[in-house]
Amino acid sequence: ESKGAGRARLCFFAPEMRQRIIDAARMEHALREAVSRQQLSVHLQPQFSLPESGEPQLCGAEALLRWHDPQLGMVSPATFIPIAEESGLILELGHWVLEQVCRELAAMTARGYALPMAVNVSQVQFRSSEFVPQVTRLLAQHDFAPELLRMEITESLATDDEAAMLEKIDQLAALGLSFSIDDFGIGYSNLSRLRRMPLKELKIDRSFINDLSHEESPDTHTTGNEIVRAMLMMASALSLDVVAEGVEETEQLEVLRRMGCSRVQGYLLGRPRPMAEVIGDAEARLSKG
Ligand code: C2E
Ligand code: MG
Ligand code: MG
Ligand code: MG
Repeated sequence: ESKGAGRARLCFFAPEMRQRIIDAARMEHALREAVSRQQLSVHLQPQFSLPESGEPQLCGAEALLRWHDPQLGMVSPATFIPIAEESGLILELGHWVLEQVCRELAAMTARGYALPMAVNVSQVQFRSSEFVPQVTRLLAQHDFAPELLRMEITESLATDDEAAMLEKIDQLAALGLSFSIDDFGIGYSNLSRLRRMPLKELKIDRSFINDLSHEESPDTHTTGNEIVRAMLMMASALSLDVVAEGVEETEQLEVLRRMGCSRVQGYLLGRPRPMAEVIGDAEARLSKG
């Protein structure tokens, strides 16, 4: 129906673009409402240590933000975290998640047992000059061993403003917190920089775990195994713990076990669930002995 080619191009792209901008604006508005109406919650996904033989053992949990909107339903963090980052709302959300986790760690500590917890920290949050003072304040307000709290950051975090970033990490590590590189393998890694960071852990991105298969499989698949094996060797050389993310199948778990991977996380062993449920289960298991 359009006459000129230029006009046809505009007609083709403009409505889509406009829709995307409207969606993002609407979502940002809804997200702001959600914060004030307390429609956000923290879920925990259990993490397990993987012995050479025998059952995986619960060894920690990752805090994952959840947003349930009455109209939109469950909104995935993959959708709303980027919007929160662009709008700056992530500063508030990130602090809220940290606060929930600190409060829970203190409550568990008071009951005599605490499960180590990991929190995802956005690049935007980390860059804020308020971040280190806020975390310092949270640690002062809540009584628990800081070693119980781990911060997951991504490799992209390590790409900008290197000196400032390293300094912040050092300051927080000096308080006793530990650091983990999330989604390892899909970003731009600067290995010499990784080595200079006081890291405790690498989390192998689930795309690599997805590619794992039994050694006997056709060799088109075995390269996936070699990549994971190389990551495990590197982590070992750097004295880092490793968590394999996104373990969904028993076969993947067994391949990882044979490779000597020490920790796993994934739907096979436990999905993210409300914080109180996961902690309740952990404490029930503990009291059974
Ligand atoms: P992530 O930190 O890499 O978290 C792991 C994601 O993988 C979670 O998705 C988890 O539910 C999912 N997952 C775990 N096991 C499996 C599995 O076996 N199979 C599959 N397919 N997926 C699995 P979720 O909760 O949707 O979060 C997505 C991302 O959103 C997170 O990736 C993290 O980058 C971000 N995010 C979530 N909560 C927060 C938060 O509180 N703050 C910040 N800054 N980012 C967050
Ligand atoms: Mg994470
Ligand atoms: Mg990850
Ligand atoms: Mg991530």
